[in-house]
Amino acid sequence: MIDIVEEIYKKYEEEEALRERRGHLGASQIGERCSRKLWYGFRNVADEKFNGMMLKLFMRGHREEPFILEDLKKIGIKIKSEQKTFREFGHFGGSCDGIGEFNGDEFLLELKTSNTSGFKKIKKSGVYYSKYQHYVQMQTYMHAFNLSKALYLVVCKETDELYTEWVEYDKVFAVSIFNKAKHIIESDVVPPKIGLDESSFECRFCAHKKICWNNYPPQVNCRTCLHSTPIESGKWNCEVKGEMNDEIICDKHLYNINLIDSHVLSANKQENYVVYKDFQNGGDGLNSFELFKLLEKRYYD
Ligand code: SF4
Ligand code: SF4
Repeated sequence: MIDIVEEIYKKYEEEEALRERRGHLGASQIGERCSRKLWYGFRNVADEKFNGMMLKLFMRGHREEPFILEDLKKIGIKIKSEQKTFREFGHFGGSCDGIGEFNGDEFLLELKTSNTSGFKKIKKSGVYYSKYQHYVQMQTYMHAFNLSKALYLVVCKETDELYTEWVEYDKVFAVSIFNKAKHIIESDVVPPKIGLDESSFECRFCAHKKICWNNYPPQVNCRTCLHSTPIESGKWNCEVKGEMNDEIICDKHLYNINLIDSHVLSANKQENYVVYKDFQNGGDGLNSFELFKLLEKRYYD
């Protein structure tokens, strides 16, 4: 007999596998406190995959949005636009849930769903203290769309209870967030770790934990390559091939030296090699796929 639940989850995973990986640094992520995690994510260092149940859960929030917008319209709030998008520094961007208008005042709409325990925390402490990433996301959109306030509206998934909060635009804060995004995009160097060790609260469930703390090798792709740089147009430039297609990895891949935990003895980009203390990447040494296997074996041994 068919296992209906498993089959549905599997379908979500199959559909996700066909979707393009998020290429930019998102407004919904930038409030993450660990800059290293953001840097790793932007550079696709880990093979991040969610199971079908999680993927289905992500959809739940999106499904709720049209109902909330309808409720807002019923009480006289005009929805000026839905899903307005922005892009900055070529690679930082996002699309908000909408812009509302009431009595001539325009404001950002940020619509969320929450489980009961999260909902209680939001009600008790407000968005800044209980959902910092949402607060940062709203400041980012208000800055990008030149708005002075935001309506934060949360629906409790179990009871359908609503919570709302008005958030004022804070220019100094928002500019600091854009500066943070710029730094993450442009920096070639891995930002510092946030946790004291891998069991730290922030690190415990991080998808990059193995790479960050235990020298598991990063994925071999154009964004982990020493020859690539993100450029203003929103694309990436490759020193070997020019403007590159993110999906096509070539045999000239060399790991960004900041991603390999070993001392560099010498390097020559023209001849395409980097000599580390106990192995060589490129040239007469190991290509990046072979180096990945070596480092992976070391991790498991
Ligand atoms: S494991 Fe911890 S320090 Fe490393 S990227 Fe993740 S959150 Fe940051
Ligand atoms: S050298 Fe090859 S792997 Fe590296 S960025 Fe260019 S195309 Fe991608």
